[in-house]
Amino acid sequence: MHSFRLPYCLIVEDGAFLHMDEMLPACVADIREKKILFVTEQFLKELFADTIAEIQKDLQHCDLYLVEDASFDIAVALAKYASVQDYDVCIGFGGGKVLDVAKYASFVAKIPYICLPTTLSNDSLASPFSVMATDGHNRKTFGCKIPTGIIVDTEIIRAAPESQLKAGIGDTISKYTALYDWKLDAAKKGGRVDDFAYMISEMAYNTVAFCEERSLKSKNFIHILTEALVFGGLAMEIAGSSRPCSGAEHLFCHALEEFYPQIKISHGMAVAMGSIGAGIFQERDVSKLYRLCALYGLDIKPSDYGITKEIFIDVWQRAQSTRKDRYTILSKTDLSAERLSCIYDRMSVSEKNEFTHSASGEC
Ligand SMILES: [Zn+2]
Repeated sequence: MHSFRLPYCLIVEDGAFLHMDEMLPACVADIREKKILFVTEQFLKELFADTIAEIQKDLQHCDLYLVEDASFDIAVALAKYASVQDYDVCIGFGGGKVLDVAKYASFVAKIPYICLPTTLSNDSLASPFSVMATDGHNRKTFGCKIPTGIIVDTEIIRAAPESQLKAGIGDTISKYTALYDWKLDAAKKGGRVDDFAYMISEMAYNTVAFCEERSLKSKNFIHILTEALVFGGLAMEIAGSSRPCSGAEHLFCHALEEFYPQIKISHGMAVAMGSIGAGIFQERDVSKLYRLCALYGLDIKPSDYGITKEIFIDVWQRAQSTRKDRYTILSKTDLSAERLSCIYDRMSVSEKNEFTHSASGEC
């Protein structure tokens, strides 16, 4: 039977990073006696110089380690350094790139990992997976373990661009279509959908879908979004797979990254865009997804990112090829250029609320 573990602590507080001497013992006992490796990147080291200095002051032995990119080689080099130098704990401070590298390196070095996110742009912060480059633009998902502790400083998150919070919302919204595809895969292959993982991922979606707080930078909303992203990570940990959070809409994002690396769009926004197409293929009511995107100000109009109709069609037609082992709605729906062209046109209307169920039914 698949076993899973949960983080020891989850702290979401204003100014949490300035009181790490109080926060960290909840995650790792006797942390002040431990040798700690603090992983971040040059840009963040400069941007948060005072915060990092404050954290280092709170810990007896805390050395900085800067990473340049999220590549497998960099993560393995970091794991080797942590092992050879006998570090006891690894702290990751940054966005998805830094956190994925620190998480994987801690897993290889077999030491506790504490996650200090500076943005809330996707659910990988609490997941048991790291996505890293293996060769040029090729990225691969590597299994590892969820963090020992997650500490979110709401003041730091508030200082980040709002677009990163919107990306986090996009990654959460995409669970609507991911969960459907997970069931489809299980039915096709005789697999099992873990009820608790399903419920927790659905809770992540509901947390954002039925949230009444509209001020994205409010302390309240940052709490809610943190919960939603952590729920996503836990759902993956319980399922032992990314399936509760990743379906056809994520394959759309993978294909866009792999075949059109020049397109600049965040993971969260690409999967939100993908969930509209996936929802139509699944014959669901996508007007509610559209309403949610409009409500939070998520821009999912393909042309705004330089995604032409040709690219849009090509990406959907090649999406399934990025994860051949996964059965999704893409394996059984009509992906003709005519239909995809119709969806692109519908997504290009400026009044987003116009995208009604009947309108999507036209495609
Ligand atoms: Zn995602």
